Amino acid sequence: EAKGAGGNVIRFFDPEMQRVVREEVSLDADLRTAVDRGEFEFHLQPQINRFGTVVGAEVLLRWPHPVRGLVSPGVFIPIAEKSGLIVPLGNWVLDCAAKVLSNWAAKELFSDINLSINVSANQLHSEDFVETVLGAIERHGARPRRLKLEITESLLVNNLDDAIRKMTALQQHEILFSLDDFGTGYSSLSYLKQLPLDQLKIDRSFVSDLPQNKNDAAIAEMIVALGRTLGLHVIAEGVETEEQKGFLEGIGCDQFQGYLFGVPMPLDQFEEFVSALGSVSHMA
Ligand code: C2E
Ligand code: MG
Ligand code: MG
Ligand code: MG
Repeated sequence: EAKGAGGNVIRFFDPEMQRVVREEVSLDADLRTAVDRGEFEFHLQPQINRFGTVVGAEVLLRWPHPVRGLVSPGVFIPIAEKSGLIVPLGNWVLDCAAKVLSNWAAKELFSDINLSINVSANQLHSEDFVETVLGAIERHGARPRRLKLEITESLLVNNLDDAIRKMTALQQHEILFSLDDFGTGYSSLSYLKQLPLDQLKIDRSFVSDLPQNKNDAAIAEMIVALGRTLGLHVIAEGVETEEQKGFLEGIGCDQFQGYLFGVPMPLDQFEEFVSALGSVSHMA
């Protein structure tokens, strides 16, 4: 509301603001079309254990826009969340992931590789979330044990009970859960004992300045110790250097993901990547 000549009023007529708003509206319309047509690229980033074996992959979407080029999820996911498009988009990701898992199983390939997908708040809290996840798995005959859902702390603040109920129902069907970007949200440690988690994911912001930054080093160490005590696996994201990996290994972190091992890549490249790495670790 315009109350006097406050900063807000001036900003409202700011041409830059208008440009941003207009751009978001047009992206939203394009996004709608892209969701209808399933025009997203499904990229996979490898997750590696202490022995150098690929044990999983995180699905990270890319949107090839006809004019803007490849749009990153940092841009379009928030827009999709605002408009509710994240629900059909998330369903599409789920369906693709289940299809990939069942294709691998049919080819007797990569039987130990889990696929992690990111789940937004509106998705988890949508009424038929549990049925949707189980439906995708059944439709493709995928093994539920191979599917991991990444949730963030922000998704727990509004409706913790709903989250616990749905996660527990899915866990009973052997779906796995990872707590993404751990430590960056309004974390309450009491969540941790209530949620049926399999994994904690150390946020990149605590990894990037390792091992020099003593605060980050202490936080990373604390997260790994906490995970161990609670019987959870711990993975670090955004691992870019050997020094970071060495430090994380030293404190007992059991999985790693980051540019040091591989960037998010299309499915066929990921399959080649795993095949190549697999033969190396057999030789070792
Ligand atoms: P996230 O789940 O925390 O994913 C990790 C992000 O870190 C990804 O960014 C990944 O490409 C990037 N990354 C991985 N390794 C490194 C590294 O070594 N160095 C650096 N600097 N970055 C690294 P991306 O792909 O841009 O995705 C951003 C966010 O968008 C994701 O953060 C996730 O929250 C969201 N997102 C992506 N795909 C989906 C999706 O299908 N559904 C939902 N709801 N969200 C998604
Ligand atoms: Mg994630
Ligand atoms: Mg993350
Ligand atoms: Mg992150």
